[in-house]
Amino acid sequence: MPNEELTRRVFLARTSQYLSLTFASPFFAFGQASIVSNPFTLGIASGDPTDDGVVLWTRLAPDPLNGGGMPSQRVDVAWEVASDERMEKVVKKGQAVAAPNLGHSVHAEVRGLDPDRWYWYRFKAGSYESPIGRTRTAPDPKKPVDKLSFAFASCQHYEAGFFTAYKHIVEEDIQLIVHLGDYTYEGAARPGRPRYHNSPEPTSLSDYRNRHALYKTDPDLQKAHQLYPWIVTWDDHELENNYAADMSEDGAPRDAFLERRANAYQAYYEHMPLRRSSLPKGSSMQLYRRLRFGDLAEFSVLDTRQYRTDQPCGDGNKPQCPEALADRATILGKEQERWFLDGLGKSNTRWNIIAQQVMMAKVDRKPGADQMFAMDQWNGYEAGRNRVLKYLHERKPSNPVVLTGDIHSNWVADLKIDFSDPKSATIGTEFVGTSITSGGDGADTQPLVEAYLPDNPHVRLYNNQRGYVKCSVTPERWQTDYRVMAFVEKPGGGIKTRASFVVENGRPGAERL
Ligand code: FE
Ligand code: CA
Repeated sequence: MPNEELTRRVFLARTSQYLSLTFASPFFAFGQASIVSNPFTLGIASGDPTDDGVVLWTRLAPDPLNGGGMPSQRVDVAWEVASDERMEKVVKKGQAVAAPNLGHSVHAEVRGLDPDRWYWYRFKAGSYESPIGRTRTAPDPKKPVDKLSFAFASCQHYEAGFFTAYKHIVEEDIQLIVHLGDYTYEGAARPGRPRYHNSPEPTSLSDYRNRHALYKTDPDLQKAHQLYPWIVTWDDHELENNYAADMSEDGAPRDAFLERRANAYQAYYEHMPLRRSSLPKGSSMQLYRRLRFGDLAEFSVLDTRQYRTDQPCGDGNKPQCPEALADRATILGKEQERWFLDGLGKSNTRWNIIAQQVMMAKVDRKPGADQMFAMDQWNGYEAGRNRVLKYLHERKPSNPVVLTGDIHSNWVADLKIDFSDPKSATIGTEFVGTSITSGGDGADTQPLVEAYLPDNPHVRLYNNQRGYVKCSVTPERWQTDYRVMAFVEKPGGGIKTRASFVVENGRPGAERL
């Protein structure tokens, strides 16, 4: 649990900074005139669609890789939303403030739009206009919906390759992009890579801002944000590899780590199309939430990093240990776990999509009778996993489908009530999507993994190439297409479907097409 004292201290410090900037200078002219070059270098984005609106995002940064380059004053940003791509029929407009304490980011929550349709939008700041973006509202939550299609992605290490996958994503017949974490990586620049990070390992707010800015200057990533609304959640690398709540990977002092966490979380908020409900409070940030698409699907978007107990018996690959089975083991934290299960219990959509970070299905990584598990995944929190699986088994929310990132490889797994008994009930399906770049080019498979797959009969696919996953959902049928690329370490990689799986309504478990 976070140190309350420190949390409050950081929060007060930041709040007073915010208040002084908000109220100190009522006659201070907004700084339109002081923007002397294009402030839209980081692109534009939209996200978290509801049936009547979206959040529109940008961040003013004329000098993106060096702190942004804005004067330290508040700046008015105008936004408008149109029903046509040429922005001739403007249906909503408003003003937002880009404030220095939030890195001159803008999060404009638009309401009053019609459900289930495309819209176009743009920003104006000073004499500069942003490119035109496209977004889409969700369907009316009470109305029947016959199709939802989206792509999900994760793990885009900038140094590992090029974001060509996003060039292909924007060509798909989809309505939405879901990102499951590792949007940025915290490593220092290393020699001999396809591309380079712009600094040593970040710890301060300005370090993390510059790191996000580097990623956001990628043209393929910008295009994907410009053309589709996104639903995002983080994993570990937006802050630090394999951290657990307030515990750093390398045992940094807790106060210092929470201060670093506050910086990373704030920079994440500043660069994502998130609603004010996610505005960071000290070293905490509310990211778990639900989004509904008519009567067809509801996303439960989880945060398995901020509230988890420590990895049992240390991190890494280990035989199962008693701590993972102890009642207190939780990857969601008590409060989020209750919220998650309560919501599943009340949900009345046909599909219940669980968008989260680390693999939920049990995977034994040691060939032969001995067993070994990756403790950073749900394996390390077996008691918590059992609570979730038991709930799915007993309460039977309609068609649970888990979407996962993290491990830079493609997997399909049946979720079993008892993974040690292949004959036990299958109660849901997990689709693990590979990375955009992390791990580099990859190959179709690797012998080390193939060697232990026979120990895991509930695993239906393994593939070790880069790409993303496309999901096409109708009331009767879910189809998942694993889209993979031959290479990412050079630009220009092509895309193809490696495998497709179907889940029929009412029949948990994936069937290969
Ligand atoms: Fe990753
Ligand atoms: Ca084994």
